[in-house]
This record gives sequence, structure tokens and C-alpha cells, in this order.
Amino acid sequence: MAETLFSKIIQRQIPADIIYEDDQALAFRDINPQAPVHFLVIPKKPIAKLSDASDGDQALLGYLLLVANKVAAQEGLTDFRLNVNNGAGASQTVFHLHIHVLGGRPFSWPPG
Ligand code: AMP
Repeated sequence: MAETLFSKIIQRQIPADIIYEDDQALAFRDINPQAPVHFLVIPKKPIAKLSDASDGDQALLGYLLLVANKVAAQEGLTDFRLNVNNGAGASQTVFHLHIHVLGGRPFSWPPG
């Protein structure tokens, strides 16, 4: 997979406000937050987008949700929203799989 901003964050080639890291995942604050709390959870494995994940990624994908949950609790969130943009038509701009975690304000439904 081509280098992306997020692979550079994993490799510490560009700075980020990292709030969680382990051998499989990283979480850091979004540079352009859309809520009082807005962070991204990414796998260290380079998967460009959710639809590129395979059956072999089953445990990793579940693990990312658990990391999102853990870091949301660490951030003091009880209610929060997860969002995954898959593909340019769904507003994905960085092609390294990431889960947006947003909290600290009310969220309406349906989303825009
Ligand atoms: P998406 O549109 O789903 O691909 O989301 C990409 C997100 O990455 C956007 O919310 C951006 O604000 C965020 N972003 C881009 N560059 C950085 C960066 N260097 N550090 C943190 N977040 C970033």
C-alpha cells in the first residue's frame, strides 16, 4: 500500500497527538475535530479502506472497536459516535483504514 499521512504518523515521521498505542492499533486526535472529542483509531496494518479488509482481518477489525471503546472511556465519553468513511464517494480522504470516534456533543440521526 502507498504511504499515507497515517502510515507516517505510525512511523513518527509526522507528529500527531497520540492518545493510545499498542502492537496492533494507534489512536490520535483528529487535526480538524468535528466534536469536542474527535479521535481516530487505526490499525498498524496498512489496509486502505474497510472494503479492502478480508476474512483474515476479522479479529483485527473487532479489536479496533474494542480500542475505540477503551479510548472513549479514557476520554470520559459514555455516549459517542463511530464513523467509517469507505471510499472517496463517502468522503474518505486518507486511504488508511480509520474509525472516527466523536463525542462531547449531541448527535442527530440520520447523518448527512
Ligand atoms: P476521512 O475523511 O474519513 O478520510 O478522514 C480523515 C481524517 O483525518 C479527517 O477528519 C482529517 O481531519 C484527519 N487528518 C488529516 N490529517 C491529519 C493529521 N496529520 N493528524 C490528525 N488527523 C488528520
